[in-house]
Amino acid sequence: MRFCPGPNKLFSLLKKARSAVGVAAASASASSSFTSSSFSAAAPKLTSAMDELQALKTKVCIIGSGPAAHTAAIYAARAELKPILFEGWMANDIAPGGQLTTTSDVENFPGFPDGILGMELMDRCRSQSVRFGTQIFTETVSKVDFSATPFKIYTDAKTVQADTVIVATGAVAKRLVFPGSGDGKGGFWNRGISACAVCDGAAPIFRNKPLAVIGGGDSAMEEATFLTKYGSEVNIIHRREAFRASKIMQNRALSNPKIKVMWNSEVVEAYGDGEKGPLAGLKVKNVVTGEVTDLKVSGLFFAIGHEPATKFLDGQLELHPDGYVKTKPGTTETSVRGVFAAGDVQDKKYRQAVTAAGTGCMAALEAEHYLQEMGSQEGKSD
Ligand code: FAD
Ligand code: NDP
Repeated sequence: MRFCPGPNKLFSLLKKARSAVGVAAASASASSSFTSSSFSAAAPKLTSAMDELQALKTKVCIIGSGPAAHTAAIYAARAELKPILFEGWMANDIAPGGQLTTTSDVENFPGFPDGILGMELMDRCRSQSVRFGTQIFTETVSKVDFSATPFKIYTDAKTVQADTVIVATGAVAKRLVFPGSGDGKGGFWNRGISACAVCDGAAPIFRNKPLAVIGGGDSAMEEATFLTKYGSEVNIIHRREAFRASKIMQNRALSNPKIKVMWNSEVVEAYGDGEKGPLAGLKVKNVVTGEVTDLKVSGLFFAIGHEPATKFLDGQLELHPDGYVKTKPGTTETSVRGVFAAGDVQDKKYRQAVTAAGTGCMAALEAEHYLQEMGSQEGKSD
């Protein structure tokens, strides 16, 4: 994205709608293209959809709504598999459409030389899924049963029996909370604070300015090293006196003359340049001595890990210790035959829209091959 000030209006609208209709919103269904107006109009209908539990059958059920889910849907729908897609309703606090709905311009997705708003990109992806016949429900999947085929997928309003499932529920970057870290009044989220250096680092507000990264893992090393291309210096702020990052990544960062490290340190406040100005600096506390120092920076990047959206799987797929779905290398196959995983939910390394889309394509093709092998290519979704 290109870093640009200003709130994500749809996101806050959705948050408001969610608090207005409560959890009942989880059972909305929608098949039209999503725009801020169609979403706000859809919210009041939600409770009536709760009245009956609907049972559906499909060849392919896709769970998620980011680039991975919609690419999988486009491929599966074009293969005439009539996929059903659950896009979630504020699942993990993110609007249908996924992480890109929380950002402004996406400048590194091929085909958009002038960039495209994250929301618009996802709106287009969704329209393309619908165009080829994907049935989309604005519901969050709360439970699955992968113990036997057909697999079962549950929301508050529906039960789906599916011959194959593609899990594309993404991940959420972890954020720290301290004065000035938020996106409300007086906060610098999206005005100097980010959780994605690769996405935001090239923004003009960071060029030749001092920057900071919080974290001590491989992501922090990678992001700090990456940011040296743009910033005048990069300060890694780490809460302990040792990094957990691999030696090779640590060495690469520590040997970079533009990188400095503040050990045993945590950020206690972010402040701006005047009342409306961008981020200007941080108050950093040494957790050993208690001393608070002032660090002048124009950018702060959280690199403290991501949380993959896998809790609803309730242990039915093998996961890595940090919660990511395990896939067979070079494929999207999970520990359960016929269940595939695509996008950030199974990718802790690249975490980009285009890589998510790439694995979404793989998942759909692999699901199609699986169905061919099972001899169940014929038939229709209910
Ligand atoms: P996600 O985008 O993570 O979406 C998954 C969605 O599935 C969830 O958000 C939710 O709506 C839905 N879901 C979750 N659980 C359930 C459930 N149980 N039932 C139903 N639905 C569910 N990448 C780039 O390439 N370029 C950029 O410029 C860029 N900028 C970014 C800026 C920000 C602020 C952030 C946070 C990320 C950015 N990224 C960027 C990264 C990119 O957004 C992700 O890599 C990509 O969106 C991952 O796609 P995904 O398909 O795996 O799922
Ligand atoms: P990690 O969980 O490995 O590291 C998170 C870091 O953030 C840790 O140093 C942790 O500190 C710190 N942290 C966590 N919570 C807080 C907090 N509340 N306040 C301050 N600091 C905090 O996450 P990564 O994203 O770095 O890596 C995830 C996985 O992805 C790893 O397996 C990694 O190897 C892999 N990866 C590989 C890459 C590569 O090979 N190129 C690139 C990026 C990631 P502490 O150490 O004290 O716990």
